[in-house]
Amino acid sequence: MSGPSSDLDTFCNILSQCKCLAILTGAGLSAGSGVPTYRGVNGQWTKINPMDVVSLQAFTDNPGRVWAFFHPKRDACIKAQPNAAHHALASLSISSVRRKLLPNLIDQTKPPLYITQNFDGLCRRALDTALDNAEKGGEILDKDTRQAAHERLIEIHGSCYRFLCTQCKALKTRFDTPLADIFANVDVVEQAKNGEYTITVDQLPRCGGSQWSGSNRYGQCGGLLRPAVTWFGEIPEGQGEVVRNLTKVDVLLVIGTTSLVHPAASYAATVKKNGGIVAVFNLGETHGDDKADFAFYGPCEETIPNLLECLAKLNAA
Ligand SMILES: [Zn+2]
Repeated sequence: MSGPSSDLDTFCNILSQCKCLAILTGAGLSAGSGVPTYRGVNGQWTKINPMDVVSLQAFTDNPGRVWAFFHPKRDACIKAQPNAAHHALASLSISSVRRKLLPNLIDQTKPPLYITQNFDGLCRRALDTALDNAEKGGEILDKDTRQAAHERLIEIHGSCYRFLCTQCKALKTRFDTPLADIFANVDVVEQAKNGEYTITVDQLPRCGGSQWSGSNRYGQCGGLLRPAVTWFGEIPEGQGEVVRNLTKVDVLLVIGTTSLVHPAASYAATVKKNGGIVAVFNLGETHGDDKADFAFYGPCEETIPNLLECLAKLNAA
């Protein structure tokens, strides 16, 4: 069996004929933004097994340790900036860009289904930037259009900007860093990254904030907040919607994630089963790429803008 093709022109031809596109992104997309993965480059991020601190059981046993481990990672995500690949993908959520680059989509009113395994929030931030720029450029975007664009982006592993109340289950978006004072000390940051630091429970963020006054109302109940990210052993978010949408997809872009590992493997299999095309974009070859129809290697922040440029040229011709 021959391997995947790396012929960009052929793939661009297929993509410009695409009727229903979906995008799946993973950690490799944000590597160019300096976001560390749990294991990091060569495992430098942490000396401990993430499984020991990134699970519901770990949180139940010692929530202060889990928050301490998570906080420097969240901080790194907040400080990171979307790169050229995030921006290029976000541009596909803009109707005028879509009509130009993907003229054959059956439903031009809806952005492509955009799935990310990253909880760094960079896809969403790039999306906001793209929407703002489109508006500045004269595109009319009402509230519904903006909301629709955001709804098509599914952060299956949650977001570092969201906190979930463990008691009333209220979900809150927060851009501040509630534990910043503790982590002003660099020694604490280093210890926390290695799972060697525990925040006392009375310092942890709570539902209703620090002004909690004994209420037990939804969203103000005083319960312990947890990061709203998917931990080991938890079911990713939005799976029903993803699976429902994928059956119609005829081209799937798998970007910055190995196409063999769940869930990418099952998404790719669904698309292939329905006669669709799968194209992988990664820094280098990963196990399972032989199941893809196309594979393009290099930093995503180069290969993805390059892809869109190729599409633009093709559709301008
Ligand atoms: Zn609550």
